[in-house]
Amino acid sequence: MGTRVENRRCAYCNGKGVTEEGELVRTRGTCPVCEGIGIVSVPVNWRKCPMCGGSGRKGIGEHFSQLERCQKCQGMGWVEPPPLKYV
Ligand SMILES: [Zn+2]
Ligand SMILES: [Zn+2]
Repeated sequence: MGTRVENRRCAYCNGKGVTEEGELVRTRGTCPVCEGIGIVSVPVNWRKCPMCGGSGRKGIGEHFSQLERCQKCQGMGWVEPPPLKYV
């Protein structure tokens, strides 16, 4: 079976297609993750990024930064699941 992908709301810009501020804004606020579309294609079996909690932003809590992309998911908010061990 092939990998089915699903369109999901871009976590980094929250589906807006633009980022409000930050160093990642290079081209007039266009979101660098979804390139302004507001949605990203994610394989259906991917899961929420544990590092950013699906926010696409780097860091949680005291070191939370709204400007930087999560390095694990690159801002998408979704990551490939670990390989299953059974069978
Ligand atoms: Zn985006
Ligand atoms: Zn992440």
